[in-house]
Amino acid sequence: MSSSTYLMWFRSDLRISDNTALYEACNNGQVIAVYLLFPEQWQQHDDSPNKIKFQLAQLEDLKQALNELNIPLLIKKFHHFNEAAEFLLSTAKQYQCSGLFFNEEYGVNEINRDRQVHQAFHQAQLTCQSFTDQLLFTPGTIKNQSGNFYKVFTQFKRKLYEKLSVVNRLPLPTPAKQKKLNIKLTQDSLALDYCNKAITKLFDHWPIGETTAQQRLQLFINDKIVAYQENRDFPAQPATSQLSPYLTAGIISIRQCLHVARSANLGEFASGKSGITCWINELIWREFYKHILVGFPQVSKHQPFLAETQLIPWSNDSDLLKAWQQGKTGFPIVDAAMRQLVATGWMHNRLRMIVAMFLTKDLMLDWRLGEKFFMQHLVDGDLAANNGGWQWSASTGTDAAPYFRIFNPTNQSKKFDPQGQFIKQFVPELQQVPIKYIHQPQDYLQQNQLHNTYPIPIVDHSQARERVLSAFKQLKEAK
Ligand code: FAD
Repeated sequence: MSSSTYLMWFRSDLRISDNTALYEACNNGQVIAVYLLFPEQWQQHDDSPNKIKFQLAQLEDLKQALNELNIPLLIKKFHHFNEAAEFLLSTAKQYQCSGLFFNEEYGVNEINRDRQVHQAFHQAQLTCQSFTDQLLFTPGTIKNQSGNFYKVFTQFKRKLYEKLSVVNRLPLPTPAKQKKLNIKLTQDSLALDYCNKAITKLFDHWPIGETTAQQRLQLFINDKIVAYQENRDFPAQPATSQLSPYLTAGIISIRQCLHVARSANLGEFASGKSGITCWINELIWREFYKHILVGFPQVSKHQPFLAETQLIPWSNDSDLLKAWQQGKTGFPIVDAAMRQLVATGWMHNRLRMIVAMFLTKDLMLDWRLGEKFFMQHLVDGDLAANNGGWQWSASTGTDAAPYFRIFNPTNQSKKFDPQGQFIKQFVPELQQVPIKYIHQPQDYLQQNQLHNTYPIPIVDHSQARERVLSAFKQLKEAK
């Protein structure tokens, strides 16, 4: 085999277009692709069967796409991240490769694993190159004047926009077809029991494939992005891109999303059509939370971003938790949202905020319980965004607003699901309830002898609000 053969290690970048490491590896020589599975870690990391099944199906799709480029894909199963370095090195030696290429990942465990891989290749005097691909900018390159990571989104965004006006990396093309390699690779099976626990209609909701993701993006840009700002908060309307599972798995790249959005806005990202700038703003939230993950690694270990909030006396009440998880809280909007999560593996962003705020502020349950349950169901489960969203809602995180931002779930329901359309879609027992009562149906149900069909509220919002405010106030006073 020629000395210029390289391993390309796929991870959360399951695509061939605009894949930085793949593109660079192909520019350097012949490529053999590798994917490593760590099934025992899925449960430990709370990765949902929905996410795993979706990503493994995508892996099959990727294999076909690579096949058309004459790039063979080797898939191997392991117990622990620690085994990665030794295997990759021995594989590189077995196929006389000159080195390894991969794109960076940002969780603490992933960073440690990749450090070991770099060291092993360095010691063996083989090339090992990793690239910023998941993000627009490498964490650590957007810092404040004191050289620290930003803690506040708006300041981070301002700095990012400054950089973006100077550096605009366009998406890379798909690599050219390579010469066929004369090797046979044995591949471990992808038939895994864990995936049997995924929802049955997973692929109806979330069809796999790079082409699907590109089409989703294009449809969103053509039909919805201009009205995104007005419509994005109404869960009954399919007004958002629903690209999150594809971004999490790397089936589409952040540069592809940004590029298409900017092109629809005459190249602008911070001004122009408000729907487009609003959507780009959301892409930057994704970027922000990944920078937070690197700058404040305690959040990777599920510690609060604001250390002092460690002392908040969160509850672990299992009955309350169960009612929330099962969508039986007696608050229709919360219940509909939780049932959407369990039925589809996804939840609308406004609802994620409502149910997270409800769990932490109304029930005063530990935000980590909610974070975990989300990861166990989400098809787009992403440590940085999920942790960031939960800590924002619990007021333990980067929210610039003070802790007394507390949503009233009934008012949120009236505002963002005024006709109760979304509620009725996921809470069929409220199907016949008139709009007037849909946000608080208990009186109507009682009057019509239907009170056994739907729970009474498990908490009094006003009392709960006072309780949580007092807990935060005490914390402030103790400081
Ligand atoms: P769009 O509105 O079309 O936005 C485009 C993309 O921007 C999204 O696909 C996503 O990649 C990114 N994005 C949008 N909003 C956010 C945000 N607030 N934070 C970070 N990225 C964002 N997003 C995940 O991808 N994975 C998670 O595990 C996750 N958990 C969350 C938990 C909580 C408690 C909250 C409040 C938010 C969470 N989010 C998470 C962010 C957001 O809810 C989803 O990204 C969004 O609902 C996905 O739908 P969409 O693709 O239609 O988004």
